[in-house]
Amino acid sequence: FAKRAGGSQVHFFDAGQALEEQQELLIRDRIQSGLANHEFLLAYQPKVDMQCGRVIGFEALVRWQHPERGLLQPSAFVPMIEDHELVEQLGDWAIGEAVRQAADWLAAGVKTSVSVNISPRHLLRPDFIERLSFHLGRFPQLHAGVLELEILETTAIKDFAAVADFIVACKALGVPVVMDDFGTGYSSLTYLRRLPVTALKLDQSFVRGMLEDPEDEAIIRGILVMARGFGRKTIAEGVESVAHGDALLALGCTLGQGYGIAKPLPAAEVPPWITEFERAPPWGRAEGC
Ligand code: C2E
Ligand code: MG
Ligand code: MG
Ligand code: MG
Repeated sequence: FAKRAGGSQVHFFDAGQALEEQQELLIRDRIQSGLANHEFLLAYQPKVDMQCGRVIGFEALVRWQHPERGLLQPSAFVPMIEDHELVEQLGDWAIGEAVRQAADWLAAGVKTSVSVNISPRHLLRPDFIERLSFHLGRFPQLHAGVLELEILETTAIKDFAAVADFIVACKALGVPVVMDDFGTGYSSLTYLRRLPVTALKLDQSFVRGMLEDPEDEAIIRGILVMARGFGRKTIAEGVESVAHGDALLALGCTLGQGYGIAKPLPAAEVPPWITEFERAPPWGRAEGC
């Protein structure tokens, strides 16, 4: 620790910190065996075209069905492995599982796309593209674009050149890359212009606040104008109510995701959910859809 802090400082033994580190070590050990024992699963949250009342795809969100602790959300374990090789293993599993699921749905007559969240450390792996291509190659019946990857805006800023190469290589395989939690990372417009991401996901903090806070709305307006100018799509996260959807539609943001549409669903509930949503979409169906 002395080294990490610059070498000149002396750090005394901190029992609390030591305990925390030991716990993280234990958790990592359990994640490793959990992966081997198939304890992880993906939940699928719909992304919809609010204007046309159509489902455009699903975001795959990892869950851990822990034998003793029950169903764990990613906040309970992903942060502990972000800086560890395990996050690469988990991410590789998630890609494989998502395309397998998409192929299963296709076989059942449900044609949809799935997006997977990719950690910074994972996408910088030299064999990432090779693995991606391997996973897609297992299911040649899947159309290009069935898989999409989400990367964080903050990642893109940190390793700009490598991330730009990554996006280009994914696109060459027909896999679009979108920028998640956009608006939280202070990336300059110049950076965005040079990163060929297909879409920006507006961070849920702005969307959640937009009904009460004119500044949140102003941020959204600004991002929409810029995205349009750059020829990028936008999708709003955190659409918690029909009123949020109304407000977004009024600003010209037609794509949305959030609890007001649906919470993340077990895979088996996806096909009936699509049918139900499209039968009676909450925002109706605009002309020309
Ligand atoms: P994210 O990619 O920004 O995913 C959106 C998160 O917001 C999800 O939480 C989702 O359930 C939640 N959410 C969706 N709509 C609403 C809403 O209307 N209101 C509120 N309050 N929340 C909403 P979740 O599933 O707990 O995931 C949290 C984060 O964990 C994700 O944020 C993503 O960064 C990370 N994550 C999830 N799955 C994976 C994975 O497979 N690999 C990696 N590396 N990270 C993952
Ligand atoms: Mg995401
Ligand atoms: Mg997000
Ligand atoms: Mg997030």
